[in-house]
Amino acid sequence: MDRPAKRRDKLRSRVRSAGADSILVTSEVNVTYLTGFTGDSSYLLLTRDRQIVLSDARYEEDLQAECPGLDLEIRRPPTKMHEWVEQVVGKAKPRKMAVEADSLSVAQFDEFQKRLKGVELVKTSGLVEQLREIKDKDEIAAIRRAVRLAERAFAVIRAALRPDQTEREIAHNLEHQIRLLGGRGCAFPPIVAVGPNAALPHAQPGYARIKDSPLVLIDWGAQGRLYCSDLTRVLATAKISPKLEATYRVVFDAQRAGIEAIRPGATMAAVDAAARSVIEKAGYGGQFGHSLGHGIGLQTHESPRLAESEHRELKTGMVVTVEPGIYLPGWGGVRIEDDVLVTKDGCEVLSHTPKELAECVVQI
Ligand code: ZN
Ligand code: ZN
Repeated sequence: MDRPAKRRDKLRSRVRSAGADSILVTSEVNVTYLTGFTGDSSYLLLTRDRQIVLSDARYEEDLQAECPGLDLEIRRPPTKMHEWVEQVVGKAKPRKMAVEADSLSVAQFDEFQKRLKGVELVKTSGLVEQLREIKDKDEIAAIRRAVRLAERAFAVIRAALRPDQTEREIAHNLEHQIRLLGGRGCAFPPIVAVGPNAALPHAQPGYARIKDSPLVLIDWGAQGRLYCSDLTRVLATAKISPKLEATYRVVFDAQRAGIEAIRPGATMAAVDAAARSVIEKAGYGGQFGHSLGHGIGLQTHESPRLAESEHRELKTGMVVTVEPGIYLPGWGGVRIEDDVLVTKDGCEVLSHTPKELAECVVQI
């Protein structure tokens, strides 16, 4: 059985536990996960004995190549998707059909309810997303490739850093390098934040220049064929100030404490606390205003979250970011982010871009 087929099997048993006999998967990324299909605008209907992809004529050939063995129901103009759902679901005749409440709009839900007479719609949340939390071998290999792509691109732009370069130019160069190296592109719009801009955790690259400040924060990731990576480094572009040295040390130690706490069975909240307590003890608790990390995979931000409110346990095969930060308005910010795989007996940091402060000094 191929990977997507195994995933569909697991999903079927989750659907049964949710009290339904079938599921209509409408989230595009979930459809990709369950079928291997790399296009969009398609749904997957899983019943007890059938697996049907509902798509349109643009994707017919791709679907035949990427997901052999699945039944295809290809709509043609002028049939709209909701009309197609009515026809295909009508023939499959489920009694209780799970729908993905997190990805369906209220309008779509109402439309389905109106058209699917005799089918009880069961609103579900996270059925596929929780399966996606645990990565299989192929997914881990794909994330490793995405990490490697991001790191190679970063090494190129780091070596080419010049005083006059703007944040936007560097963000653009990252995208360019990742594509040259064979990636689909950046996993998300990179953050390149010079000096005080780095105090904004989600700063948008603008026209500040490298020479405007002694530090630049870069948060970037690559998307390989499908899977993503997500990393952050701070580069020192002039003499390291005592303030940078002090804040960097705290964030560095916090990240190490977080990574050391990662193992199967540790709660996500405990990992967040391990890092957060280092920052709090140093007096910067109020300057670390986000959770410690998030899952990565087909999406840059996915379940689970390393956060104070998450009391579930980590499991082998999860891949999470660990990204503590300290943000000081008017001055700048320090965040260090790596991608970490939960292994049988602890964890493995998948990213290897140097992060000791002395290794982050760039001559420009
Ligand atoms: Zn990031
Ligand atoms: Zn992140």
